[in-house]
Amino acid sequence: MAAENRELASRARRIYQQFLAEYGEPEWKPSRSGFEQLIQTILSANTTDRNSGVAFQTLKDRFDSDWDAVRTAPLDEIKDAIRVAGMYNQKAPHIVQTLEILFREEGCYSLEHLREMEPADAQTYLQRFPGVGHKTASIVLLFSYGMAAFPVDTHVQRVTQRLGMSGRRASAEKIKAVWEEMLPADTYFSLHVNMIRHGRTVCTARTPRCANCVMQDDCDYYARLGEWDDAPPG
Ligand code: SF4
Repeated sequence: MAAENRELASRARRIYQQFLAEYGEPEWKPSRSGFEQLIQTILSANTTDRNSGVAFQTLKDRFDSDWDAVRTAPLDEIKDAIRVAGMYNQKAPHIVQTLEILFREEGCYSLEHLREMEPADAQTYLQRFPGVGHKTASIVLLFSYGMAAFPVDTHVQRVTQRLGMSGRRASAEKIKAVWEEMLPADTYFSLHVNMIRHGRTVCTARTPRCANCVMQDDCDYYARLGEWDDAPPG
């Protein structure tokens, strides 16, 4: 590993440890199957966890957890069931197309075959589904199967950019690659969860609370306060 990368890797470990000391070790406890996590994550785009959770439960209740019935139902019925999650004109067909692919290829609504795949292959496999990008695929792999995939949402992207672990305008995909290269897989869940917590409560988009932040010593944004332009990074 080149000297520059060694420095970045050691910084990544410090950041991981600092978040751990501040927020503790979150418990990895899969609460739903990979398949259900995929549907839930499709519903979660551009809405709150609460609304996507309500939409998911309503969908299951409305169809008695019968995914065959969801797959063959009139689209308007699905849209109505998931309305609270917003963007139902896109999300409903994405759900149906996902069910159709699984039914056609696997004969059932399950992603358990992912357990047999290498993480990179599983990531590519999931990104074939409609509306599934690297974030959704990584969430399914990490949260349901504990596989080596680091999901990057808007909070993780912003905090990473500010800390200086990536360029200031680095894409979410680039940031995913940075963390996956710099840290071992058994850190991903903890770092992901703790970084989101940090982004929601301290390193917020518009007014980061730098004066109260434990990351000051390892943060580019803090080191250059006053030099960054007005537009918050990320
Ligand atoms: S010091 Fe400021 S910019 Fe850096 S991580 Fe903390 S809150 Fe964010």
